[in-house]
Amino acid sequence: MITIDGSMGEGGGQIVRSSLALSIVTGRPVTIENVRARRKKPGLKRQHLTALRAAARISMASVAGDELGSSRFEFTPGQLTAGDYHFDIGTAGSTMLVLQTILPALIVADGPSRVTFEGGTHNPMAPPFDFLQKAYAPLVERMGPKIKLALVRPGFYPAGGGRVEMAITPEPKLGRLDLMTRGKIVDRRVRAIVSGLPRSIAERECLTATRKLDWPEHYGSVEIVDSLRGPGNVVFVEVRSKNVTEVFTGFGEKTKRAEQVAEDAARQTRRYLKAGVPVGEFLADQLLLPLGIGASLGSGGGQFRTLELSRHSKTHIDVLREFLDIDVTTEQSETDHWKVTVSPPRV
Ligand code: ATP
Repeated sequence: MITIDGSMGEGGGQIVRSSLALSIVTGRPVTIENVRARRKKPGLKRQHLTALRAAARISMASVAGDELGSSRFEFTPGQLTAGDYHFDIGTAGSTMLVLQTILPALIVADGPSRVTFEGGTHNPMAPPFDFLQKAYAPLVERMGPKIKLALVRPGFYPAGGGRVEMAITPEPKLGRLDLMTRGKIVDRRVRAIVSGLPRSIAERECLTATRKLDWPEHYGSVEIVDSLRGPGNVVFVEVRSKNVTEVFTGFGEKTKRAEQVAEDAARQTRRYLKAGVPVGEFLADQLLLPLGIGASLGSGGGQFRTLELSRHSKTHIDVLREFLDIDVTTEQSETDHWKVTVSPPRV
């Protein structure tokens, strides 16, 4: 039994989600203590509980301590089982984080899976659907599996009510991913999305983001979507380069001016473009898990260049090392210029 201290490093939900994925693929039981100890309201929230139950379903695991607010639980995985699943968070909690808990295991399972998720699809402090579909999933696919994601209905925080479908064709011998250069930029765009809110909000956001980025105004577009419940607003800046697509997000909130939402996304984009690296801050911490699993299988692993490693990334590396016999090295050349290498153990 591996024991993970949930208060290590970032001390948030990612330690829980990644430990579950790693427990399933290694078959090693895990106890997590001090769950989300560094968050304002520690313990398992609805989103984490759904992730825990989803992880248990796909691996026929036995679980103790799976209650709302729980600060300690035990997870003993059984057989990883591909198939058809449906997970409903029951609140506006992020479906994307539940998806990212089980995806790393299902891509190395012994058969295809189809999974439906219900809850939030565009939540602050979590990867929004568009990021997963355009930035994350295509890179994981380069390691061999096929991943199809469909947004049936958006669900904005705090109302939720969204629905996402995922179809996975696995590749049990995950291959390498090398992402050392971004390559030429082939497309840039700003997408401002509103649901149940005036179009003018999205128009102001397009204008602000394109101005802040010094891009022509026609690079911006407004999208009006229908969510089942509640209003929603999000701004995406998408940078498609030869070797990678990055998606930067500003999340609309009741008390935040449209200009501020657009500036958030533009600031992240400027930092990324200035650094010239292929992988942004969030993508870096999320790629570490499939890279680590690939390296531990002996078939995969890889390397990438990224911005200054976040505490999320550093904590994620520590979690990987608890479960997997792999080599992870990080090298910094300038502030926003890091190289991360994930390899099978040296013999
Ligand atoms: P808590 O920390 O409250 O437990 P949590 O479960 O949301 O919350 P975190 O540990 O904070 O978990 O992890 C959040 C994850 O969401 C990280 O993997 C981070 O990369 C990702 N993320 C946050 N914001 C974005 C964004 N704008 N785009 C893409 N990914 C994001």
